Amino acid sequence: MSDLKYIVALDQGTTSSRAVVFTTSGEEVRSASVPLPVQFPADGWVEQNAEEIFDTQIQALREATRGIDPHAILALGLTNQRETTIAWARDTGKPVAPAIVWQCRRSVPIVERMKSEGREADCLETTGLVLDAYFSGTKILWLLENISGLRARVDRGEICFGTVDSYLIYRLSGGRSFVTERSNASRTLLFGLESGKWEPKQLALFGVSEKNLATIKPSAGILATTDILGPEIPITGCLGDQQASLYGHGCLKEKSVKCTFGTGAFLLLNTGKKRVRSQSGLLSTVSWGLSVGNDIESEFAIEGSIFVAGSLIQWFRDKLHFFSTSPESEALARSVDSSGGVVFVPALTGLGAPRWNSSARGSITGITRDTTSAHLVRAGFEGVAHTVADLFECAEFSGVTSLNIDGGMSANGLFCQVLADFLDCEVIASPRSETTAFGAAALAAYGAGIYPSAEKAITTFLSAKSSGSARHYQPTITLPERSLIREQWRRALDATIAASEAQPT
Ligand code: ADP
Repeated sequence: MSDLKYIVALDQGTTSSRAVVFTTSGEEVRSASVPLPVQFPADGWVEQNAEEIFDTQIQALREATRGIDPHAILALGLTNQRETTIAWARDTGKPVAPAIVWQCRRSVPIVERMKSEGREADCLETTGLVLDAYFSGTKILWLLENISGLRARVDRGEICFGTVDSYLIYRLSGGRSFVTERSNASRTLLFGLESGKWEPKQLALFGVSEKNLATIKPSAGILATTDILGPEIPITGCLGDQQASLYGHGCLKEKSVKCTFGTGAFLLLNTGKKRVRSQSGLLSTVSWGLSVGNDIESEFAIEGSIFVAGSLIQWFRDKLHFFSTSPESEALARSVDSSGGVVFVPALTGLGAPRWNSSARGSITGITRDTTSAHLVRAGFEGVAHTVADLFECAEFSGVTSLNIDGGMSANGLFCQVLADFLDCEVIASPRSETTAFGAAALAAYGAGIYPSAEKAITTFLSAKSSGSARHYQPTITLPERSLIREQWRRALDATIAASEAQPT
């Protein structure tokens, strides 16, 4: 009988619930993934069945741990899709409405109303977030204004509102623990970024009181226990998905940066113990909150979202039929030496920071009779790299010397090289396709007391045998070449924005 001990990460994502079993030193043992349905009941509305969120997560946990003695599982770590909002009955734990998914735009009218009342600047200052339908507070108010009878039940204290972490912990603990932690709380518009508490004026704005919200705990330590597998197992680490990935990359020092290239891309810059106010429209968020004595100390990050990354590759694949699998995009783009003068602005769904233009649409310029699908795909990679470079040129990123990447597109060596060239900085591609569950497990190992510090936990995990090695890419183009390429991009971007503005509405 092996005396190996395990940490299991639960990774509750938008399209699937996963569970990954790790040894206490970070070797991945087994994983399981269960798809999670998403519903689109109206234009711009995105919701999920909260009961299915829980069920798929438990299924994944059971499948990944099959054959493992549950007594050998020392701790669970949790990471989750952020901002998604759930309302459930305190007595039964059963959801009373669909989970409103982060992408859902149904609370836009609420946001417009608040903007017209001049609430934007104060929300940004207090919470670090722009006032947008993306964030949980607006979704809570939508539920209060639209679900019949909910307001009265809320006032009687019968309803819990929470992000996915607090809902899962509530269910896993059989209703004993109604808790969250700071990285998830910092995505709600209700949490004071600097006070570290639910902010009374934000609660008043969104119509909730503290009795309907979870207690905010540190991101590591015993958050709750669960007997879902038989014995009581502590949940000792929890982070929102992008923050778990930041930690999973080992980005613990100030100025360390990670970008996850999935369907879109999320860039997070660690700003250490300081909350930095972005001058470029980037969000401020909590990376994690850790116990120091009797206090919780936050570390902060700046976050920029890129709307189109892997989805551009999907567009080439599914709409233009250039190839049948995404990895084939690399060989096609490598079949030409350059994009042949083609510039592709991949603003397929508007532009995020620093331009923030939701009406902008994509463009392809510089096409000649010699242009082939290979040039277009290569120009597509370059376009995604340029959108990252635009963020990197924001003042907050000065002094950054390397970028850690993961996600589907990070497997593409040509894309990684283009990125290093355009950013003029080293790009380090993780050997793991994603670092989210990995980060959650390492944090749970720290929270379980296996390591003396969060830093020691992640450095041990990162040096685990099963890890493989990271790929490093250095810039290969000269400064004048880079300036020329960037200038060409800026001109194309300006023209694209101008053309979108000139469209008849
Ligand atoms: P998500 O978590 O958002 O579903 P993943 O991290 O699984 O995304 O990444 C999937 C995305 O990466 C898809 O959009 C896919 O087109 C793209 N992708 C996967 N492999 C490659 C590759 N080798 N080159 C370019 N893009 C890729």
